[in-house]
Amino acid sequence: MLKKTNNVAVVYSDTQPSEKQLQGLAKFLSDKHNCDITVEWKQDKQLTGGFRLEYGAYVYDWTREGKLRQLKSRLEQLSNQSDIIPLLKQTVEDWSPVVKAEEQGSVLYVGDGIATVNGIEHATYGEIVIFESGVRGMVQDLNRHNTGCVVFGDCSEIRSGSKVFRTGKTAGIPVGEGFLGRVVDALGYPVDGKGEIEAEDYRPVEMPAPSIIDRQPVNKPMETGLLVIDSMFPIGRGQRELIIGDRQTGKTAIAIDTIINQKGKDVICIYVAIGQKASSVVRLEQTLEKHGAMDYTIIVNASAGESAPMQYIAPYSGCALAEYFMYQGKDVLIVYDDLSKHAVAYRTLSLLLGRSPGREAYPGDVFYLHSRLLERSAHLSDEKGGGSITALPIVETQAGDVSAYIPTNIISITDGQIFLESELFFQGQRPAVNVGLSVSRVGGAAQTKALKKASGTVRLDLAQCREMQVFTQFASDLDDVTKQQLQYGMGLMSLLKQPQYHPYTQTEQVVLLVSALSKCLQHLKPAEVNSYAKNLLEYTKQTIPTTLRRIDQTQILTDDDKAAIVQCAKQFRDQQATVSEE
Ligand code: ATP
Ligand code: MG
Repeated sequence: MLKKTNNVAVVYSDTQPSEKQLQGLAKFLSDKHNCDITVEWKQDKQLTGGFRLEYGAYVYDWTREGKLRQLKSRLEQLSNQSDIIPLLKQTVEDWSPVVKAEEQGSVLYVGDGIATVNGIEHATYGEIVIFESGVRGMVQDLNRHNTGCVVFGDCSEIRSGSKVFRTGKTAGIPVGEGFLGRVVDALGYPVDGKGEIEAEDYRPVEMPAPSIIDRQPVNKPMETGLLVIDSMFPIGRGQRELIIGDRQTGKTAIAIDTIINQKGKDVICIYVAIGQKASSVVRLEQTLEKHGAMDYTIIVNASAGESAPMQYIAPYSGCALAEYFMYQGKDVLIVYDDLSKHAVAYRTLSLLLGRSPGREAYPGDVFYLHSRLLERSAHLSDEKGGGSITALPIVETQAGDVSAYIPTNIISITDGQIFLESELFFQGQRPAVNVGLSVSRVGGAAQTKALKKASGTVRLDLAQCREMQVFTQFASDLDDVTKQQLQYGMGLMSLLKQPQYHPYTQTEQVVLLVSALSKCLQHLKPAEVNSYAKNLLEYTKQTIPTTLRRIDQTQILTDDDKAAIVQCAKQFRDQQATVSEE
């Protein structure tokens, strides 16, 4: 190999080294770096015991401070052993100086959460670097002459010329049971003022998704407790179901209800808030706390006030936490609220890093941004512990336009979508799920047999009713059959209305669906349906408790059970009729 020439290294020490010593150092460096290097001496009065050799980005620390650092790390290792003094003595006696290269660079320019650094030539993509002020950053752009780093924190203390140190580690987050019930930022630091969190492990934020062999099909339900979803668009454990809709259509509400419904079901929930108002996150935490859901929930928060890099990394951090539990064989539900803001944060970051903008100014890899995140949700095979991550990504649309860039991307990645509509929301149909446009591609396999049998034709009936509504819009007088069908459809729609924080159990859903589909609620006006349904549930619980218990335990709805429910619903109808007559 050709040798480069004219390279100069500098040795810092208090006393001047002899010519021979300098030549020795030069030979050491020349051999190591395979080029001719000359060594110059510069006086540094602070280095009384030892010297420090700097060659480009390499620093060989042979000073007293270096020795102390080594001692300190040994001490830390020893601190949990009881008989520390003899060991310490031994360590001091055994001490020999080691030469360790540490690569350091310097900041060229900094701004908007991005620092351009030169000198850290061997840094890898995604590696964490530490700036002189203690702030951390991540390598995101490797160029020929410099390196672009995103900064996780305050840029104001980073100046042109400040030193930057490599860590050799990729970005990671501490994980552990201690995180349950806590609110943390995108790097895993607690932000709820409840003190330190004891970590059990450290996981990289970017991890490859489980391979095909490590997975098994989705076959267990992840119940949302919302009748409209569980009956028609069931979600399975390990599925990715998108919640999509305009602003203020109840997207977050569906995710929160699902989290609340996991109480006592041995599911760990993670809510990742990206680019939201801090006040909304506080309110959300209080709501979860009030319903006893914080015990099994972790909130990862990168609110609107935080820098784009923090918002960019937050969902990956949340996913790393989820994976920690999944690989222990647990079931995890993770909500990304929302990925449109995540894409915007990534766009900001990419434009600042000087990457070329593509469609809607997003960079070319914006599809990969979300696909690699959502692919990490899985139902692991039994050999891998059988754990799962179910993802509920949320996307905000503008004026119901699902064909915009980010919505179409995410629709194509996920296993179905729940489409929420402003019009329905304002009509009072809440949750405002558009039954025609929503789908769940794999969840059907995970629906319990009881619920599958009970939900029967509900989707078809609703579709027929909708069609009829369109046709009859202009007709003034309708025949009785059509009128009845319309009323039936309206009744079904009213039954699907559900207030927030009131999840139905599986058996309650079965009772309501069986009663409605056998037209036991036919005689009601749409406005009466909800209170009637509530009373009906109470009545069935008192009249046929053993049947309900059996359905709950076996998750099967036999024909006899179905007949019993229908009979009970009819009894209730007759009873109500006599009450109102009186
Ligand atoms: P944003 O776009 O601001 O994130 P969002 O789509 O997440 O909004 P939410 O914040 O979930 O919408 O809900 C908007 C409002 O609608 C809230 O005030 C919420 O209380 C109300 N809401 C949502 N679902 C229901 C429901 N099922 N019944 C009654 N009110 C509801
Ligand atoms: Mg929301």
